Amino acid sequence: MQTPDHASRRDHHPAPPTVPAGTDPVVAALAAVRQEIRQAAADAGRAAGAVTLVAVSKTQPAERLEVALAAGQRVFGENRVQEAAAKWPDLRSRHPDLELHLIGPLQTNKVKEAVALFDVIETVDRPKLAAALAAEMANSGRRLRCYLEVNTGEEPQKAGVGPADLPALLTLCRDQYRLPVTGLMAIPPQDEDPALHFALLADLARRHGLAEISMGMSSDYGLAVRFGATHVRIGTAIFGSRPGLEG
Ligand SMILES: *Cc1c(COP(=O)(O)O)cnc(C)c1O
Repeated sequence: MQTPDHASRRDHHPAPPTVPAGTDPVVAALAAVRQEIRQAAADAGRAAGAVTLVAVSKTQPAERLEVALAAGQRVFGENRVQEAAAKWPDLRSRHPDLELHLIGPLQTNKVKEAVALFDVIETVDRPKLAAALAAEMANSGRRLRCYLEVNTGEEPQKAGVGPADLPALLTLCRDQYRLPVTGLMAIPPQDEDPALHFALLADLARRHGLAEISMGMSSDYGLAVRFGATHVRIGTAIFGSRPGLEG
């Protein structure tokens, strides 16, 4: 799991636990992922309950989500407002205790819909978006936890605030817009050892007094937990490869 070999990162799948024959693959995969999270937390001397599994359900049809819901999964991540709006209101009416995270980029013209639909916005990365979220939260009376997305690899094409600009954005969000910022989120560069990025994000969260740290995906979540992730975002390791285009 902790290998810096990048080829194996992408191909990594946790060993399947023993499950009865005929078990739905999503149920078996969820059990395997939860087991690996528990193990990684134990290795790091952390409580298993300190890590929340965010099941990334983008591109997955409602039937797959029903299977995960039936297996007790309650926290889900979607990366597109439109897609989430089509899938989740119906499921939520039947499962009022679920928690929905937006993990993809948010355009200001979708803020109203996003605030109505999600519980956590993980991708706040610029003043204009912070302002729009603050206005819509005031307008709707809904307060959503917000994470600031940090571009830890300072990749020009990638969303997220650069580490150097994080303090100013955080101050603006907290003091001017009064947003409930509770955490940080990052997506490490594809071609680098994620450990450095996990360490950086955890350090930034600690320094700024933010309790929630969203990092780690199918290929590296065990490592992320060892570095202090409180939220791991996992899609393919639970649902298998995504139907249609990658998001
Ligand atoms: C799709 C996605 C994930 C999940 O990726 P997997 O490799 O399928 O686990 C996590 N985070 C974000 C931001 C994503 O867009």
